[in-house]
Amino acid sequence: MLQNELIEKLEAQCAPYFTSINQMVEINQKKVLNAFREEQIGDHHFSSTDGYGYDDQGRDGLEALYARVFGGDDALVRPQIVSGTHAIATALYAMLRPGDGLLYITGAPYDTLDQVIGKNTSNTGSLKDYGVRYNEVLLKDDQTIDYEGIKNAINEHTKVVGIQRSKGYENRPSFTIDAIEQMIQFVKEIDENIIVFVDNCYGEFVEDREPLEVGADIMAGSLIKNPGGGLVRAGGYIVGKEDLVELAANRLTAPGLGKDAGATLNMLQEMYQGFFLAPHVVGEALKGAIFTARLMDYVGVETAPTYTDKRTDIIQAMTFHHEEAMIKFCEAIQANSPINSYVAPYPSEMPGYEEKVIMAAGTFIQGASIELSVDGPIKPPYTAFLQGGLTYAHVKIAIIQTVEKLIQDGLLDPLTFPEL
Ligand SMILES: *Cc1c(COP(=O)(O)O)cnc(C)c1O
Repeated sequence: MLQNELIEKLEAQCAPYFTSINQMVEINQKKVLNAFREEQIGDHHFSSTDGYGYDDQGRDGLEALYARVFGGDDALVRPQIVSGTHAIATALYAMLRPGDGLLYITGAPYDTLDQVIGKNTSNTGSLKDYGVRYNEVLLKDDQTIDYEGIKNAINEHTKVVGIQRSKGYENRPSFTIDAIEQMIQFVKEIDENIIVFVDNCYGEFVEDREPLEVGADIMAGSLIKNPGGGLVRAGGYIVGKEDLVELAANRLTAPGLGKDAGATLNMLQEMYQGFFLAPHVVGEALKGAIFTARLMDYVGVETAPTYTDKRTDIIQAMTFHHEEAMIKFCEAIQANSPINSYVAPYPSEMPGYEEKVIMAAGTFIQGASIELSVDGPIKPPYTAFLQGGLTYAHVKIAIIQTVEKLIQDGLLDPLTFPEL
């Protein structure tokens, strides 16, 4: 239904942006390759431990590799970190003590952190339950950082400032490394002892620098997103200053065990190989996102970022202003997935989320969003967030067939499409 000629025209318009993605992939691939060489990773690093996991050379090598690539002193990279939320929570609990303040300066953090912070709950073991003071500075009306607000919100209790790079399920732009650098400088000028934490989920390898390279003290993310390269079956990472990573290790395992325990259970090879592939896979996902933005824009759906915008994460937001169109879009992406294509996703309650959420993830690894996936809370203006794709070709095929399905179902009207 969508003519080949049309697709070719749209793709040609994306070409200059694909070229800059290719350049970024090369820069980051070189960074990763050099780190493998400098850390002298060998095939002995693939043999993992069981039981307590003491003397795990492979794990130590992997953590040294992450620290080097991401610009930290040390790292925790573990299958025992169950998700991005767990990585972030582990880092925050590690640093904050009763009476200390946590201040998020990029607006409300990602939905699953509400219960970690204890925004609406008390006796669940949340940070609030432990006596941590929480505050957040909302973005200004134009969705930029409220520097005046940050200055006013920082007080003698403020121990950790939180920055979320990616937009999550918010209707705001993601923050580039340049923007994060400016935020960190501003905070450190007010008080250099404040620890800056960055939620780096979905950001890894999208730019040529990571938050630690512009002054952040510690950051965290998920291995079933960018840095796992699509191969890692479970895990998370925390990278940063040595003392902070040690505290995080004590929180993850136990004081006295710290980084020295934690079996790697035959997962090392995929963790190394996934990290090696990650710059390329992130590039594929980014090209997929750019083509998606171009095509959706053409058919009249609002896109953020647009296909020409600079990107700092792999998320592509699309606003439908129409509940059925959003749900049908997610269903069609699922139907164009390699795994569980015959299953229809539907909106439902999810642990950690306040509203019903629809999640299409026809993925090899459960919920892996470096694989092609689309999700979002069911609420106006009905924005779906698409991310991932292990290959550009898959994203391109899936998005074209999804748009064709929406046309077929009368949810998009070709008569309204512009002349190119
Ligand atoms: C995905 C994500 C998280 C949480 O990660 P999970 O692995 O889903 O727990 C946190 N913050 C941001 C910005 C995310 O994108």
